[in-house]
Amino acid sequence: MRTLLRVQELDLKIEACQAREIEIPKQKGKFDIQRKRLAAELEEREKACKDLLLEQRDCEKEIEQKNAQIAKYQTQLLSLKKNEEYQAMLHEIDLIKKQIAIKEERIIAIMMETDASKARLDEDRKRISAELKDIDRQCAAIDAELAAAIQERKSLDEQRTPLAAQVGADLLTRYKRIRASKKTGSALVPLNGEVCSGCNMRVTPQIVNEVLAGHKVHSCAHCGRLLYDRSNFTDDAVDLPVG
Ligand SMILES: [Zn+2]
Repeated sequence: MRTLLRVQELDLKIEACQAREIEIPKQKGKFDIQRKRLAAELEEREKACKDLLLEQRDCEKEIEQKNAQIAKYQTQLLSLKKNEEYQAMLHEIDLIKKQIAIKEERIIAIMMETDASKARLDEDRKRISAELKDIDRQCAAIDAELAAAIQERKSLDEQRTPLAAQVGADLLTRYKRIRASKKTGSALVPLNGEVCSGCNMRVTPQIVNEVLAGHKVHSCAHCGRLLYDRSNFTDDAVDLPVG
């Protein structure tokens, strides 16, 4: 019974480790979301820069086409005989020149926007990279915490095996069955006066007496947990019930 108490002590610690092994990795979930958000943010900023560059190229191409158009019209101008046709062509050329001027103004604006956008991108890159490093650091700490929990559980398992081997097979089986049915917590509970500390229900006086005497292992009639008396296990000289 005393050995089983030690086994239970280890089992409860192992149980806590196992719960931590499940809980610890969950902390990384929010970091995955943050990583994705930062990547999306950076992508958006890069796209804004690229879009400006593309718009500038488009403007340049249009200006080139319009200049070619003007050159063509100016050649045609030479062959025009009628004055109104000549004037109309001049007017057309003038119109195209105005369109070119508008595109040139737009290019200047784009270049300024590009400078601002690139500066912002540089800043964002630095900030995002720092944030990602911080996330990596926190994830590494979580991994280390998990590794420590696993290591601790393994070490507890190693301590448990030889102890469990010392417990009587029947007692160990009863213990295991109760542990399995309760899922978590103690299978071996101390008497609290005349009350089972597992379910807080009153135990019959006869069972209380027998548990106090420490010669027999009793289960609580209400919750099935194995009962023991604390005072029986504070001193090694006391007789132990046999499993
Ligand atoms: Zn009980």
